[in-house]
Amino acid sequence: MQVPTLTGTIVQHVAPPLPRKLSTRDALMLYNVESEDWQKAMSRSFKSAAEMATVLDNVYIPSAKSELSFKTTVTPYVAQLMDKTDPNCPIRMQYLPAPAEDDDVTFTLLDELGEEGDTIPGTSVVHRYPQRVLFLVSNQCSTYCRFCTRKRMVAQPDGAVHNNEIDNSIAYIASNPVIQDVLLSGGDPLKFSDEKLDYILGKIRSDAPHVKFLRIGSRTPVQLPTRITPELCAILEKHNVQMLNVHVNHPKEITPLFAERIKLLRKAGIMLGNQTVMLKGINDNSEVLRELFMKLIEIGIRPYYVYSTDAVEGAHHFIVSLERMKQLYHEVRGWISGPAVPTFVVDGLSGLGKMPVIPDYVVEKDGHVVATNYKGTTVNMDYLL
Ligand SMILES: *Cc1c(COP(=O)(O)O)cnc(C)c1O
Repeated sequence: MQVPTLTGTIVQHVAPPLPRKLSTRDALMLYNVESEDWQKAMSRSFKSAAEMATVLDNVYIPSAKSELSFKTTVTPYVAQLMDKTDPNCPIRMQYLPAPAEDDDVTFTLLDELGEEGDTIPGTSVVHRYPQRVLFLVSNQCSTYCRFCTRKRMVAQPDGAVHNNEIDNSIAYIASNPVIQDVLLSGGDPLKFSDEKLDYILGKIRSDAPHVKFLRIGSRTPVQLPTRITPELCAILEKHNVQMLNVHVNHPKEITPLFAERIKLLRKAGIMLGNQTVMLKGINDNSEVLRELFMKLIEIGIRPYYVYSTDAVEGAHHFIVSLERMKQLYHEVRGWISGPAVPTFVVDGLSGLGKMPVIPDYVVEKDGHVVATNYKGTTVNMDYLL
């Protein structure tokens, strides 16, 4: 807009810069996340329940203890997805502290899954399985999930992954020809700058030619889709990152912007998978799961795993029983497209690793093979004895 000034000269009108914090409901809802780069958007994140209460109603302010034990951080994009008033909104429940966290003493922040026992000293590599490793590159995420499996380190001041551990990790991978598969996780690898990712991926590729499969686990595409840029895709393509696994728990998270940015990754030739965490009150419902999995394959993401909520402090209220998990699997398998059905797993305590949870469809019983289909109809198939 051209505006005349008192001296009669014409100057270009420049919109005043947005304040860093979007501290009113109107400011949040008018904000266009695509109007600026992802780092800027990230810098506008809400950093506590009290800050979220400036843009949402009925926000529970947790006790100082739970506030201290696990950080609240929410990108403006995620905040826009949250229902203004309903504390049971599936997006709010995933990211905002709940009253149930305050008096939950069921679990601790200890390493229940035994990852530390399988961590190579001096590195952040968890080497549990024969030919693949989990490489924890960071303890930071774009937005923190209340049911985070790695609360012992993620968002914790003493949980940072230092550059020397990253270099030691790459050296370990490089010196172990048995490692054919490296999974970068954290924290969230896509919170890093393009330069840092380029360095880590490039060094793995140059120093460890025996690595056949390089994959990344990240929730940033779901929490701030603008992180997926053509520049990022070019880096992933250059280093032949074969797979990116995202983490969507509810159909509401599949927005047009998310779908559009996922398409950039597909064009770069990257296989897309999804992991879902089974969460009571959010997605422990077969209609929600069927819709979620179909929406995922519709945009080119193959549902990979459904995990049970892990035994971590403050997450007890999300746990879905084994029996219910099996029932949900039964209500999904056969009812939707086969490629849309993920493997349901539990991650074993004390380092046992992931184990599938599948109801019995075909069993041997009293001298017969009894097969039960998705509708519950049974047939004897004794030729399989
Ligand atoms: C999940 C996991 C992997 C990868 O397992 P896949 O079943 O191959 O996806 C590797 N290492 C650790 C420690 C893990 O927890």
